[in-house]
Amino acid sequence: MDGARTRGQATALRAVAAMVRGPAPHAVLFVGPEGVGKTTLAGDLAAGLLCTAEPGARPCRSCRACRMVEKGGHPDLHRLGPAGPGRQVVIGGPGARYRGVRELIGELALLPVEGGARVAIIEGADRMNEDAQSALLKTLEEPPAGVVIVLCADREDRLLPTVRSRCARVRLGLVGPRDIEAIVADHDLADPPLAARLGRLAGGRPGVALAYAMAPDAVLIRAELSRVLLDLTDARPSARLAAVRAAIPRALALSAALSFGEMPAAPRSGRRNAAASAPPPATQDEPDDPAEDEPAGKGRPVPAGERRRAAEILVGLWMDVARDLGLAGAGGGRSVRDTVMLEELAAVASTLPPGSATRFLERAGRSAELLASNVSPELILDALALSWPRRAAAA
Ligand SMILES: [Zn+2]
Repeated sequence: MDGARTRGQATALRAVAAMVRGPAPHAVLFVGPEGVGKTTLAGDLAAGLLCTAEPGARPCRSCRACRMVEKGGHPDLHRLGPAGPGRQVVIGGPGARYRGVRELIGELALLPVEGGARVAIIEGADRMNEDAQSALLKTLEEPPAGVVIVLCADREDRLLPTVRSRCARVRLGLVGPRDIEAIVADHDLADPPLAARLGRLAGGRPGVALAYAMAPDAVLIRAELSRVLLDLTDARPSARLAAVRAAIPRALALSAALSFGEMPAAPRSGRRNAAASAPPPATQDEPDDPAEDEPAGKGRPVPAGERRRAAEILVGLWMDVARDLGLAGAGGGRSVRDTVMLEELAAVASTLPPGSATRFLERAGRSAELLASNVSPELILDALALSWPRRAAAA
């Protein structure tokens, strides 16, 4: 598929090319970590199915259909994604605040505008609650003629078995630094040295590299937070707890500067800002969150969903620092993600108990899982702060 925008996903691209040649399955599930390119691959599949060029040349990226897909205006390409502060794919319906599964089903029940195939892409499909998934089931079982439904999900286990079993599954893995570097270059978003740095920093996820490339502030905040975490290895418990609480607003700033998982090709500009300024919806679509909204530092109270997001970012960054410390301590300096910090990493690593960074990394991985549940994000961060390795006292 020469017209594919996806890079570094050879196996998945072969599967998609076969679907474009046809016959395509009625329902497809793209699974893989956040930011690896599921939405981009869904766009490639949609373009391939809607393209009007010779079958062997699809997607051609130059016919009218391809251009409409690229610009986000193809009338037979329907997109649905997470909405609102809770970033859920809602069930929708009359009176609902956000467009949801019911609206999508309604659109698919109409006839195609261009007379050919129709494609529905649901981003963040694992952010549908059970009701929304159940509402979608019947359409997955018996989709209208010519309709291909594409689900993109980070976490397959959050989908109902009945939903999964109706989809042809395509797995996407992490992408190599060189491919990520090339993707950043494709988008003309960074000079070669920055593209190379982001290629490593992104940890296999081009979406992360692109988000950083589009937000120069984010690179600075990331470096600042990494240094805070490194310095914490030399801090007492009380200072650790205070520093981690103080880091939450900066993690929020990082979260605001980045929009993870949203590739520039997906035309959802302004969604993040709209979500940040919208009042919390009072619909049953919002997940229950036992943690009350509380202030992060001073200023306005921070909604629970944003605090959880900030904690996710902080834990992810913490894991990156721990991984790099482990590598630097084991003489694997050339493999670290954050090459700019290599000297500091090596200096700190040499003072830590052997294996402590790796043990912390395992613990942080479990904490990242917990963040997806209803445990208070602050409690999780506190526990990590106290288990973060401590430098040996100077002799
Ligand atoms: Zn075309």
